[in-house]
Amino acid sequence: MSSRLLDGRELASRLRRELQHRVAALGSQQAGDDANARLIPSLAILHDGAVEAAELYAASLDRAARAVGLPAQLIGTSDAAAAIDRLNADPDVAGIVIAQPFADPPAARRLVERIDPTKDVDGATPTNAGWLARGEPAFVPATALAVVAMLEAHGIEVRGRRAVIIGRSAVVGRPVASLLLERDATVVVCHRATRNLARETRRADILVAAAGSPGLVRAEMVNRSAVVIDCGINAVPGGIAGDVDFATVAPVVRAITPVPGGIGPVTPMMVLRQTVEAAERRASAARGQQLEDGDGRRLIGHQGVNQA
Ligand code: ADP
Repeated sequence: MSSRLLDGRELASRLRRELQHRVAALGSQQAGDDANARLIPSLAILHDGAVEAAELYAASLDRAARAVGLPAQLIGTSDAAAAIDRLNADPDVAGIVIAQPFADPPAARRLVERIDPTKDVDGATPTNAGWLARGEPAFVPATALAVVAMLEAHGIEVRGRRAVIIGRSAVVGRPVASLLLERDATVVVCHRATRNLARETRRADILVAAAGSPGLVRAEMVNRSAVVIDCGINAVPGGIAGDVDFATVAPVVRAITPVPGGIGPVTPMMVLRQTVEAAERRASAARGQQLEDGDGRRLIGHQGVNQA
């Protein structure tokens, strides 16, 4: 049996083209009767200028945004709190992302909490996490959305299936659990204290690995009808490796994402998609009704948890 390769680069290119069209449409709408008003709300990316990994991620997101025609600004400031207040108040800013990691994690956490939830296009704020957990429309952490986008792109049925997730982090495991639960999967979340991980993973129709542990999932831990989604991006000698031992698992399952080239390339597209949604909502709110204070919910992305 040969398994199906779930190709993230191909999906990312398709998503990029879709977003290019939506951004172009936004631009022409706004140009309307006043060509000077040709303004597409932008994406702001904050990072800790002293952390190379965050700088690299921020730069790649910046390039990805520009590639779909979204203006982006990279901010590596020492006064990030003031920058966020300014970005929250700026009507030309649709989305704000804080590129992790920061040298000072508690400081990063305080910054995240400062982001206006209607501009929180990486679903990082507790407000969006709460809405997601309640099964309501929300901006969602990009990696979690990428998992769902991958399943949808390949027509993989979720309803009624057993989804087993390894990892309970706020950025991957928990939001993936919420998204799949909302799509009617039976969800099992495994973590470090799970007894007999292999017994759980062997029962998975859909196995999502988000443990940050290279090669954790081996062939004897999966069944032949499983679809395996690997969210791991682990630095190993000679490159990056996923949480799944691809060489032995790929030949024995129904479908699998590679690393690199699986969930990785799709993730930035999900940040951009949520930014475009935020921008579209801002544009229609500006054309039509005025935004009311405390009515931010109308600005939250409709591709959130409740929309399949
Ligand atoms: P990520 O950002 O990839 O989600 P984190 O380090 O934030 O990674 O979280 C890792 C998660 O994976 C934790 O919830 C942890 O319990 C789980 N995990 C790590 N190693 C194992 C393991 N060997 N077995 C089961 N769960 C694991």
